[in-house]
Amino acid sequence: MKDCLFCKIAKGEIPAKILHQDDRIVAFDDINPQALYHKIIIPRKHIATVNDLHAEDADLVGQMVLSAANLAKELNIAEPGYRLVMNCNPGGGQTVYHIHIHLLGGRQMAWPPG
Ligand code: AMP
Ligand code: ZN
Repeated sequence: MKDCLFCKIAKGEIPAKILHQDDRIVAFDDINPQALYHKIIIPRKHIATVNDLHAEDADLVGQMVLSAANLAKELNIAEPGYRLVMNCNPGGGQTVYHIHIHLLGGRQMAWPPG
């Protein structure tokens, strides 16, 4: 996707603090952190929203979640815990239209989030 911010980060065309990358997944620091730890996990494959996922993407989404959990362990926040979030479309607060998981930790999360 030519004008997608997260595709550009995945290709190294826009700088980001990369924490992990492999052939399918990239993880990096959120530029506007909402918690002490706020990381973004994306697939290299451009998928605009969670609504656009197909059955064949199930393995990829599983890898995203596993990458988030591994990152949480590396950051030593697996205990006490953290939050994973995927926002979908304007009503869900999505601003970048390339699916991503937010990994948030290092502070107590409230529920409901508001
Ligand atoms: P969302 O609102 O769920 O689409 O989340 C998009 C996230 O991307 C926000 O938390 C932004 O702070 C973050 N973000 C936007 N631009 C960048 C960037 N250049 N590098 C890293 N994170 C970014
Ligand atoms: Zn993209």
